[in-house]
Amino acid sequence: MTIVEARTPDPKKFIKGATGDWEVVIGMEVHAQVTSAAKLFSGASTEFGKDPNSNVSLVDAAMPGMLPVINEECVAQAIRTGLGLKAQINLKSVFDRKNYFYPDLPQGYQISQFKQPIVGEGKIVLDMPDEQVVVGVERLHLEQDAGKSLHDQHPTMSFVDLNRSGVALMEIVSKPDLRSSDEAKAYLTKLRIILRYLGTCDGNMDQGSMRADVNVSVRRPGEGFGTRCEIKNVNSIRFVGQAIEYEARRQIAILEDGGSIDQETRLYDAVKGETRSMRSKEEAHDYRYFPDPDLLPLEFTQEYVDELAAHLPELPDDKKARFVADYGLTPYDADVLVAEKVSADFFEQVAKGRDAKLAANWVINELFGRLNKEGLTLETSPVSAAQLGGIIDLIKSDTISGKIAKDLFEIVWTEGGDPAALVEARGMKQVTDLGAIEAVVDEIIAANPDKVAQAREKPTLLGWFVGQVMKASQGKANPQAVNDLLKAKIGIE
Ligand code: ADP
Ligand code: MG
Repeated sequence: MTIVEARTPDPKKFIKGATGDWEVVIGMEVHAQVTSAAKLFSGASTEFGKDPNSNVSLVDAAMPGMLPVINEECVAQAIRTGLGLKAQINLKSVFDRKNYFYPDLPQGYQISQFKQPIVGEGKIVLDMPDEQVVVGVERLHLEQDAGKSLHDQHPTMSFVDLNRSGVALMEIVSKPDLRSSDEAKAYLTKLRIILRYLGTCDGNMDQGSMRADVNVSVRRPGEGFGTRCEIKNVNSIRFVGQAIEYEARRQIAILEDGGSIDQETRLYDAVKGETRSMRSKEEAHDYRYFPDPDLLPLEFTQEYVDELAAHLPELPDDKKARFVADYGLTPYDADVLVAEKVSADFFEQVAKGRDAKLAANWVINELFGRLNKEGLTLETSPVSAAQLGGIIDLIKSDTISGKIAKDLFEIVWTEGGDPAALVEARGMKQVTDLGAIEAVVDEIIAANPDKVAQAREKPTLLGWFVGQVMKASQGKANPQAVNDLLKAKIGIE
């Protein structure tokens, strides 16, 4: 790989060692399981959680004489993903055999793409708190997953489950453009969001549909790249961050001690919070790659790519930009809403024809806050977009105050129902009729002559009177009307 440095060292990201500053350099190889009903070269199902060896065709079990047949849907998914990563799509690519022996690999080789991948260079943009970081994507290639060895089912026997054998994976390789564990986490988060929008990978890291190999090296700022270690198969975004923090400090300690880094493959032990050596470069495999003679080169036309491009959904970056431009949301709120396509869609339903900022506020703070607290999702939310929109309409028309709206939200959450009908039936309407409020206002003014005098000197004390009136009206008085009335009666400009 030719490495062109796109980034200048940023002291904010340096790690302090005993003998000065260090910069960490990270590159990621992400394996993303392709969303597809069938495997890459067979018609067997990819459904998760089935009984061991129930989703296995003769091809997946590598029975003699069986030939692979490419699944077009997996190819389309890889192209869609490439388009989503703004990447070069290669109209011709080649499947190679990567040869190695392992019990969960019945063919004795993995079909992968080595020299000519289906997707070339692309990029992922990260919105970090005070800068935008553009991370280069080196390539994306298609390959088969292996089966799974089960060692802890029996004291003296190991088992092999081939359900995953032959499932299509996309390996997405980044350039070594990441400079902190936060950036690495943001990269994985963003990649996962893009894949989920595209519908090309479900991003379920706990089910293994997305796994990351994390390459880490350290160097003195301004120097060339150091020797890297590769931490294999990290299965959560949080662990990726922890593994990088540990690994960078481990390498710094060795270098500061006058030692050197061995290029090796390591494992992250989440229980101990440390990385451990698996194998060194000397033990690295020679995979004897060669083009798979059972498969023709993969070729398609530009028209085919254009057709897929024409049907791509709006992607998170574009959606975020639109939410900021069209709805006037803050980039932060827009980020929260576009993190999942369902939440962005939900927000747009609520915001349609309404005050978008108020809608964003209610969706994010009230609804998401409550869903998180109860461990629910939008799919299982007791409050629909129509109901939330109804509550907002009542606030906007001054039918209820913001405070009563929260009580109403609670009722809709627990009991359901139409917000407007509930307000009517339960007498929750805000009192804007000054006549009804006036008596209460007079009473409070009469009972507190000293405070009235103070408020004339210091108008901010008016808030105390507003509070009293609101309390007396059980929150139903219109705060603006109360405010105006009090000012007039007390004599404040
Ligand atoms: P290999 O062919 O051994 O897999 P690659 O050159 O394809 O190596 O790189 C694999 C991954 O390692 C890429 O994600 C790349 O960004 C990353 N990488 C390469 N060099 C370094 C380095 N010095 N420090 C950190 N990551 C690196
Ligand atoms: Mg590699």
